[in-house]
Amino acid sequence: MSTSPMMQQYLDAKAACGDSLLLFRMGDFYELFFEDAKTAARLLNLTLTSRDKGENAVPMAGFPYHQLESYLGKLVAAGVRAAICDQVEDPKQAKGIVRREVTRIVSRGTLTDDALLDPRTSNYLAAIACEPSSKQPVGIAWVELSTGRFFASQSAPERLADELARIGPVECLVSDASDPPSMLLAGITVTRRPAWAFAHRQACENLSRHFGTVSMEGFGFSDDDVPAIRAAGAILDYLIETQKASLAHLDRLVRYRTGLTLEIDESTRRSLEISRTLRDNHREGSLLAVLDRTVTSMGSRLLADWVTNPLVEISAVESRLDAVAELVDQPLLASELREQLRPIHDLERLLARITTARATPRDLSGIVRTLRVLPVIKAKLTARQSSRLNALEAQLELLPELRAALDAALEDDCPLVSNDGGFIRSGFSAELDSLRELAAGGKQWIARYQSDEAARTGISSLKVGFNSVFGYYLEVTNTHRDKVPPHYIRKQTVKNAERYITPELKEYEERVLTADERAKELEQRLFIELRQQVADEAKRLRATAEVLAETDVLVALAELARQRGYCRPAIVAEPVLRIVDGRHPVLDSLLADGQFVPNDTIAGPEDGMVLLITGPNMAGKSTYIRQTALIALMAQLGSFVPAREATVGLVDRIFARVGASDELARGQSTFMVEMTETARILNTATKRSLVILDEIGRGTSTYDGVSLAWSVVEHLHQHIGCRTLFATHYHELTQLETTLSRVRNLNVAVREWQDNLVFLHQIVSGAADKSYGIHVARLAGVPSGVVERAKQILAQLEHDHLDPRGRPKWARGRIGRAADLQLSLFAEPEHPVLEKLRELDVDQLTPMAALALLNRWREELCGPAMSAGGSETSLAEAAR
Ligand code: ADP
Repeated sequence: MSTSPMMQQYLDAKAACGDSLLLFRMGDFYELFFEDAKTAARLLNLTLTSRDKGENAVPMAGFPYHQLESYLGKLVAAGVRAAICDQVEDPKQAKGIVRREVTRIVSRGTLTDDALLDPRTSNYLAAIACEPSSKQPVGIAWVELSTGRFFASQSAPERLADELARIGPVECLVSDASDPPSMLLAGITVTRRPAWAFAHRQACENLSRHFGTVSMEGFGFSDDDVPAIRAAGAILDYLIETQKASLAHLDRLVRYRTGLTLEIDESTRRSLEISRTLRDNHREGSLLAVLDRTVTSMGSRLLADWVTNPLVEISAVESRLDAVAELVDQPLLASELREQLRPIHDLERLLARITTARATPRDLSGIVRTLRVLPVIKAKLTARQSSRLNALEAQLELLPELRAALDAALEDDCPLVSNDGGFIRSGFSAELDSLRELAAGGKQWIARYQSDEAARTGISSLKVGFNSVFGYYLEVTNTHRDKVPPHYIRKQTVKNAERYITPELKEYEERVLTADERAKELEQRLFIELRQQVADEAKRLRATAEVLAETDVLVALAELARQRGYCRPAIVAEPVLRIVDGRHPVLDSLLADGQFVPNDTIAGPEDGMVLLITGPNMAGKSTYIRQTALIALMAQLGSFVPAREATVGLVDRIFARVGASDELARGQSTFMVEMTETARILNTATKRSLVILDEIGRGTSTYDGVSLAWSVVEHLHQHIGCRTLFATHYHELTQLETTLSRVRNLNVAVREWQDNLVFLHQIVSGAADKSYGIHVARLAGVPSGVVERAKQILAQLEHDHLDPRGRPKWARGRIGRAADLQLSLFAEPEHPVLEKLRELDVDQLTPMAALALLNRWREELCGPAMSAGGSETSLAEAAR
């Protein structure tokens, strides 16, 4: 097959961009060829055609260049990487074939186009550096290209899933040589990179070169941080390769330290629906969505960060709460601040575009509009009581010089592209003004020239005109022909008049005709200068962006608290929970006012550490235990909470685990997963943790399930001693209150009314009096015969398996130390001797036989007796 020069150019570009889909600019279209064309046709619903015919036929698909953004969005959302190959010289000037180059490679994690990004969500690209099957810490780095935020950290391999859930990257780089379990990366676009990109030396070199430092020590990294550095290096390497543009906005690498925030593992995040819902993974319906009353996208993203990383230090939490409280107490101040914040632009993302020279004139006007509202915001933050608001006020930079410069330079409405000009105010540059005047036809100049010439020549009717054939001319009527000066050059004769040109007029014409071009060039230069002026202030602007985001979050939390009637939680060090009239933040916001039934949660060393909640299905058990966890989480992120009063003892980790069958909707949960996660809680919870368990053990048979549930509660009570809320429909577990001192039974009140079960959703103390399962079956229309039979079977089971005090017989084993626990999980079965003893008819027994039986049973219980030989045989025989 012969290859045309253009095809050769295509093939070269394709070879250079690896496995990315190549979008090849041809005239007004982006075209794809070969397999890329087929993939794109399928993903983008494009018509698949072919270039050339016969043996040279090549599959081809394409779209108009101006639709690049929308098609790129679809490709990237489908997890595909796209390389954009543009024409890098003007086709009119090109000698031979137009030069083309791959100008950038776009993937989900490297998006910067505003139109393709959700303004409220951070868009992180992550990299994981791990040794295959090693216990070494795993390095993890993450960056948001649209803002320049860049972090690195490391964690134990088993905590990687939690870290990924916390960060929530959309794309993750992994080494060809490593094989992280695919489960970890579900829903994330995985990009494989060569192993050398993760090499330590390479990473150090890349990072030092980029940041202009000798080592990474200045950023807080030490020799122990090799994995973190490797991951960060891999990210930088990928960005250099794909972006082919300035990365100046990545100006620091932040060493993220774990342990400074509340630990929430991946499954807890999911089951508490903190930032996404469990069912469809949407933001809507999550805690975050309910809390989010911010009015700026920066605020929205910061709130998401606070919600995913609540604090663990009392003073830090109190500092946020003080600020929210002050804004709650001063509703006028809060609403004024809110109104001022509304027009704020996304400074963070604007700055990133400005420092990487991708900004448009409209981006600059976004900066100046933001700067204009700063003085009012600063004034409103001045002399506040809370230290946080004062600190924000101090950090807020007004940048008056920059504002004045931009104000003077920029029109109110700026265009999206800089090449066509039209965004610099008149009066800013005298040179630009005169060029524009010229370009606009220079009416004044013409009028002046016309009157000057009329005066000089004495031709009162002399006129300047314009036609497309020979441009500007002077027209003299035949009456004045004799007054025409000799330097006038005659060009045309028309009825009653002659038309002339002069060198002066032609020179002017030349200037007019190029003026437009030159004005645009000048505007472009001025634009670049202004952009640089903004870039020079990036650091101060970034600090200001942080202030605006945080002010927005604090004001939004105050607004939420006021609107929904939340209270300020007291944060204490003791492991207690005292929530009066607590509500579930999400359900409460969905139900009409007053429909949610509030409930108290009282737990602590004195009030009971393990709350065991029983009640029928749909009574409100899950809602209750979740609301408690969410209230604790909200308190520690610095928010008021949905309760009348609340005291939250600082929590170090929150665990939430839902029984397997509740998660079957996801189609992947098994009893094994349930148990793995339960094991994790038992192995990692501390005295300060908060554990909520929902129907643990439901994923297996009743006996298995209830035994596991039983022993899990025992373990939490005896060996961990953390605050635990355990919702279960295993009615048997309520007996634990009689043996474990810090277990409290709670149940959800229901009322039977006219053959109906009315759920009151009210938590009351004490055990539920029955499981209600059979009752619910009857209500559901199960035939009465079946219901009656079920009752009989239940009665029999209860008789067989409960001891006279109502405690399950299988739970009689002693509560051992952790090592013994496995043994005590399973109660010893009754010894067969006991059964024989029960059946023995003593009246029919001779003394000799009784003796022999006694001896045999003793042997069965303790092994052969060490008695004198001979007699044993005779005794045994006698017994027979
Ligand atoms: P369970 O865990 O006992 O099966 P859920 O907690 O799932 O029950 O609650 C079932 C339904 O009852 C919820 O979807 C909600 O509609 C309602 N509900 C639960 N708690 C309350 C409450 N405190 N106030 C009002 N409605 C509630």
